[in-house]
Amino acid sequence: MNRVCASAPQLQGITPYDPKYLPAETLLSANENPSDVEKELRREISGEIRRVPLNRYPDPLANELRDMIAEANGLDRNQVLLGNGGDELLFNIALAWGGPGRKFLNLPPTFSVYAANARLTGTETVDVPRLEDYSIDEDAVLARVSQGDISYVIITSPNNPTGGLADGGFVARLLEATDALVMVDEAYFEFSRRTVRPLLDKHKNLVILRTFSKAFSLAAVRLGYVLGSEEVIREFIKVRQPYSVDALSQAVARVVYRNRAKFEPGIQAIIDERSRLLDGLSRIPGVSTYPSDANYLMFRIKDAAKVWEQLYECGVLVRDFSHAPYLENCLRVTVGSREENDRFLQAMKEVAIAHL
Ligand code: PMP
Repeated sequence: MNRVCASAPQLQGITPYDPKYLPAETLLSANENPSDVEKELRREISGEIRRVPLNRYPDPLANELRDMIAEANGLDRNQVLLGNGGDELLFNIALAWGGPGRKFLNLPPTFSVYAANARLTGTETVDVPRLEDYSIDEDAVLARVSQGDISYVIITSPNNPTGGLADGGFVARLLEATDALVMVDEAYFEFSRRTVRPLLDKHKNLVILRTFSKAFSLAAVRLGYVLGSEEVIREFIKVRQPYSVDALSQAVARVVYRNRAKFEPGIQAIIDERSRLLDGLSRIPGVSTYPSDANYLMFRIKDAAKVWEQLYECGVLVRDFSHAPYLENCLRVTVGSREENDRFLQAMKEVAIAHL
């Protein structure tokens, strides 16, 4: 037979996720860390990798890493779970808490993967849009969960792509108001230095998502983790693929996590550059900026899609959100190294002047 029957009905009309990652001299589109892992650590990583038996399956739950992360966060091993990037764990929450007849509360504009995963798992997405300044419409969220039909909520803090933090007091009120599973996506928390971790002690319905991709320069390795109650982690384990975190990734992450203090100056440099970038960007005529607690900045400019193109012609790749709902004329730039940020600012000045 040379034909195939239709795929699952929920896939109809879906276009695969496209990170729009194009080759460019200055890559500022994917919220990556501008610095690769330093030489000395890479040597240590090579040593660790050399000891990995390649003919054996990895430890399915990456228990050594679980222990390290648990200890650093004052938790038990069974309150931590690693995943193949935060992305896998975002799919797992939809598998474990979503499904036909169940509802996911989304706070757009936010990371588009959440709604995509809901759709793939036949989960209904209920939107409570953010306010005009992109802060959370707290009253509307609390009112919506009080209806009692939401299975899970994802709150991104700092939010991607808009950059702002969720208020900790609000997260606490939400956890009190609902028994829905509330995920706080802290993929960028190292750049805000704020976490809702203390709320875990009192709320079984909280799960926190983190990643090695940003602060720890390991986007290539694909490692993320969740912190939660033992009960919640057990459900995540049920839906995961047994060997999703391979032995080489585990080895790399062990070295990096053991040496995480060495990443601190790099994180601080990004935080410092973020203020400089915001300052430079807000001085450019026609640009409106949004404050950010993450390693990126969102800004608005007339004819943003054209601006994106002209920046790309200058060798600078940023992320175009101008056609996304709620984000008309918005672009997002990752905080890069000082030189990358200067190149971006210079290109922006030239492009903006040409647009006036
Ligand atoms: N959450 C948010 C808000 C993100 O922006 C990202 C990365 N784009 C992730 C989770 C997942 O990151 P990773 O899969 O690289 O761990």
